[in-house]
Amino acid sequence: MENNLDYGGSEWVPEAPSGEPERQYYFMDRVRELVERKKREGYGASCLVNVIGCQMSAKDAEKLRGILKGCGYREAESEDDADVILFTTCTVRENANQKLYGRIGRLKHQCERRKGMILGITGCMMQEKDEVETIRKRYPYVKLIFGTHNVYKLAELLYRTLRRDERTVEIIDDTSLIVENLPSLRKTGFRASVNISYGCNNFCTYCIVPYVRGREKSRSSEEILRECRDLVRDGVKEIMLLGQNVNSYGLDREELRFPELLRRVSEIPGLRRIRFMTPNPKDFSEELIDLIGERENICRHIHLPLQSGSTEVLRRMNRHYTKESYLALVRRIRKKLPDVSLTTDIIVGFPGESERDFQDTMDVVRRVGFDSAFTFVYSKRSGTPAAKWEGVSEELVKDRFHRLLDAVRESSSENEGRDIGKVMEVLVEERDREKPGFLTGRLSNNILVHFRGGERLIGELVSVELLESRGFYYMGRLL
Ligand code: SAH
Ligand code: SF4
Repeated sequence: MENNLDYGGSEWVPEAPSGEPERQYYFMDRVRELVERKKREGYGASCLVNVIGCQMSAKDAEKLRGILKGCGYREAESEDDADVILFTTCTVRENANQKLYGRIGRLKHQCERRKGMILGITGCMMQEKDEVETIRKRYPYVKLIFGTHNVYKLAELLYRTLRRDERTVEIIDDTSLIVENLPSLRKTGFRASVNISYGCNNFCTYCIVPYVRGREKSRSSEEILRECRDLVRDGVKEIMLLGQNVNSYGLDREELRFPELLRRVSEIPGLRRIRFMTPNPKDFSEELIDLIGERENICRHIHLPLQSGSTEVLRRMNRHYTKESYLALVRRIRKKLPDVSLTTDIIVGFPGESERDFQDTMDVVRRVGFDSAFTFVYSKRSGTPAAKWEGVSEELVKDRFHRLLDAVRESSSENEGRDIGKVMEVLVEERDREKPGFLTGRLSNNILVHFRGGERLIGELVSVELLESRGFYYMGRLL
């Protein structure tokens, strides 16, 4: 605990319960009383939670929104209308940090002008001491700073900030605590994500996640299943199970293994689609492939991060698989699941990456035929082992990045249109943003479909005939 930062985070409130989540419900009640009192003086009590980063960050935002609602806040229409603005942050690459500074810089005037305004920042970036120091010194109008391990404590931290009208900073280095049964507020009614584990034990040498999200902690399968059942009862049709490495779910405690957990989730009556993110290729089992084949409601889409196609680079990345074993896994998946779509993440310019290494990546891209790939330029993260290794020149990285993008485009275009003429099930997501009278939905394999239809179909599963391919999406006809 010595390394924790706590500038007034923990005020002694003797009558507050010490157990969780009761303690947080106690503080939600206290904040609500304060907010009600302030409302009589003209306080708007509106809030906004902004997400920078991945699905984990978005999931944290849902929890923060749920707690804020429990504290008596309503969702603001826009940033200008908000009395509390929170950011969940990302620090996986340097540009994510820059994004946050840009956004909070633009909020300076509002924070200084608006009485009682609270700007708060949480998430991965706040687990980095240097970033917290920068915010403390250069952004005095940021009133609330907390990390990834105490998101559940928002009500308590907000209570202190409101009562004392001064800045609260509380960062915890790591914890084994998982607080269940706090409120959460989703933006879409028909889709939801569910954490199955927190943190990561893999320590890929480029990655900051294990340092900012802590050691891997699996949630109890009972809690996961209960949450999934409640969501389905609430009308949710599609659930995404979230973990940094879903395949190592349960290894840290007496628990089910991931395929068994997935099977039980897929057996929940009424749950039409299940996705999961992210499996690590190093332990993607045969049992999991078979299960996906067996259960129709497990989506035909596997996101299988490659990172590099070079066995030598993978070794230095500490990924625990080789070019050959990755390709063999893809062959096994394709054999048993011929209709599955594969997507991936690739890093270009990892320290020491030679042209030959890069050619191995290009080779894997061409051989696998990914439907899409997120391609990233390597970003040095201080504190990770790779940060000490000599980098690849910017010029080379740029050149490789463009060549890789071309290869990805080319290989994904080979898959385009493969399902033309078929009738497939689509989960309708929203109105088509460009074409009035049209809707956008998603196939089980994650590919988008646009078709004419009425808004009342949003959130429904419908049958659509795929008529034409337009690159990364289809045009279809509702049946
Ligand atoms: N747990 C997931 C990844 C989480 S981070 C997994 O193992 O697949 C999401 C992606 O960001 C990674 O797959 C990787 O491609 C990319 N990434 C992580 N650290 C990075 C860094 N330092 N520079 C560039 N990209 C990085
Ligand atoms: Fe980062 Fe590797 Fe863990 Fe993914 S598995 S979060 S890339 S350390």
